[in-house]
Amino acid sequence: MTSVKAYAAHQADKPLEPFQLTRREPGVDDVEIKILYCGVCHSDIHTARNEWGGTMYPVVPGHEIVGKVSRVGANVSKFKVGDTVGVGCFVDSCGHCSNCKDHQEQYCENGNSQTYNSFEQDKKTITYGGYSTHIVVTQGFVLNISDKLPLEKVAPLLCAGITTYSPLKYWGVKKGDKLAVVGLGGLGHMAVKLAASMGADVTMLSRSPEKAKDAGELGAHHFALTTEKETMKGLANTFDFIIDTVSAEHDYNQYLALLRTNGVMILLGVPPTPSEVQAVQLIFGRRSLVGSLVGGIKETQEMLDYCAEHGITSDVEMIKIDQINEAYERTLTGDVRYRFVIDMASI
Ligand code: NAP
Ligand code: ZN
Repeated sequence: MTSVKAYAAHQADKPLEPFQLTRREPGVDDVEIKILYCGVCHSDIHTARNEWGGTMYPVVPGHEIVGKVSRVGANVSKFKVGDTVGVGCFVDSCGHCSNCKDHQEQYCENGNSQTYNSFEQDKKTITYGGYSTHIVVTQGFVLNISDKLPLEKVAPLLCAGITTYSPLKYWGVKKGDKLAVVGLGGLGHMAVKLAASMGADVTMLSRSPEKAKDAGELGAHHFALTTEKETMKGLANTFDFIIDTVSAEHDYNQYLALLRTNGVMILLGVPPTPSEVQAVQLIFGRRSLVGSLVGGIKETQEMLDYCAEHGITSDVEMIKIDQINEAYERTLTGDVRYRFVIDMASI
């Protein structure tokens, strides 16, 4: 057992604070990683504040992890000490259900082990995330990271990148498709970059007029303010796809109306409260409302390789670990351009 420094939330309404946690000694199949950078996902905030229920305190969030291998177990062949590696939203799964066999560990039928606020596959050891100096992960859930790109800008790809890449691939978004992204935050800015790189005609739908210029620089071809009724009316029946990344409750019907016949609206954001959907919005136009959860390990590696090849990274604002509570507050007001990343050397 190794004692490592971390930051944890101890209660929903209390700030995160320094915390000491114990990591297991690397087993034969394990990789121990010295964490260099960890992105700050809105899911970290939902969990730290128990907005979805089920938070097990103390919780150490963080699932956008990039670091260097510091130790490996005897059976580890894929990695050696010093390699640059990543860890995303889950660290293990059953390995034998049909989804695991199909490289879709995110949908493991027996429950995967999420990187934090979850259980290892023994179903009793609680997992702790990347707001810490080290993590120990079984080799099959560790990703190769190219040294070509700045590592702090790669960290957010491990969640925001794969969560937006996976649905684009699954629904076959291609050149010329008209695609809208709702919400310009961590996921939203990666959705814009990735969809534009695949040739889609991208419209940014945002409630924040001050983000219009950035949206264009990120690759969006058009920008529309969701608060302007007439603009939204003018966009009715326009899009083949809508990717919704909004973290708080909002009206889905307003966006469904913007889909063309057979259009697909993909929910990525997980507001803590449910929303009503009007059947007519789906029926008229045979529209689909669907969701998507991160992506499997194989697809995450594919995404990382794709981003390395195309020079795609996240736009980040670096913080020290003791700025984490301020970063949460700023994320909640939409004041982040476009992902906070913790420099773990500051712990
Ligand atoms: P984020 O950086 O905070 O971005 C969310 C964006 O949504 C904001 O920048 C804002 O964009 C918009 N927004 C926020 N509150 C709003 C409100 N009340 N009304 C309208 N728009 C609002 O969050 P994130 O890290 O991208 O995560 C977004 C959501 O995805 C979270 O719920 C997170 O838990 C979830 N998530 C899901 C998955 C998955 O696998 N499906 C993976 C990771 C995260 P504008 O200022 O442009 O309007
Ligand atoms: Zn995330």
